[in-house]
Amino acid sequence: MATLTTTTTTTAATATPTRARLKGVVFDMDGTLTVPVIDFAAMYKAVLGDDEYRRIKAENPSGIDILHHIENWSPEKQQKAYETIADYERRGLDRLQIMPGAAELCGFLDAKKIRRGLITRNVKEAVDLFHQRFGLTFGPALSREFRPYKPDPGPLLHICSAWEVLPNEVMMIGDSLKDDVACGKRAGAFTCLLDETGRYDSPDYANVDLKPDFKVSSLTEVYSLLEEHFDLAP
Ligand SMILES: [Mg+2]
Repeated sequence: MATLTTTTTTTAATATPTRARLKGVVFDMDGTLTVPVIDFAAMYKAVLGDDEYRRIKAENPSGIDILHHIENWSPEKQQKAYETIADYERRGLDRLQIMPGAAELCGFLDAKKIRRGLITRNVKEAVDLFHQRFGLTFGPALSREFRPYKPDPGPLLHICSAWEVLPNEVMMIGDSLKDDVACGKRAGAFTCLLDETGRYDSPDYANVDLKPDFKVSSLTEVYSLLEEHFDLAP
């Protein structure tokens, strides 16, 4: 069952007497539209080394922003890091699977004439493969080549302006608190965290200030959440 976090319950009751209009939904790709196949912890360790990985992890309880950490490395070291990341992503592509409920949710959004966009920190090649393999198209679909990337609100604001809608008429859905929810919040959009395993209920996240507006454990919970909390009339 979809849960509404306490923060929004309060806001919704006092400041939003009518249901908000929803004109678009923007999805993260890896772990949201596709089943998680990339072992991010192993990837970070391979890039950073064990000691550095542990140090950075301790300093960043909500998660490591690997692209940010390598941004200021020397060109040679950075090149090697990008190759390691690309290697993990490539292995992920071979086992790519669509997330249960994703196709049905897209059908629901299409029926309601709600736009669908995509923002990923993965490369364009992976987005192209995703589009081809599953026959679902998202537009705009922004990949790592679009700068700045998530958690910067830039890509989401870009999509809103391409759609000619306001950020508060859009929902960002993703499985990463630090990237997807942060990007959505900073842009002023609604946010929905997909937490299939309940990992965000762990005490590690108790002191993390960032909270999504909604949290679901499956994409199949999203329709009822949208119908209950939003005005979906075209
Ligand atoms: Mg993800």
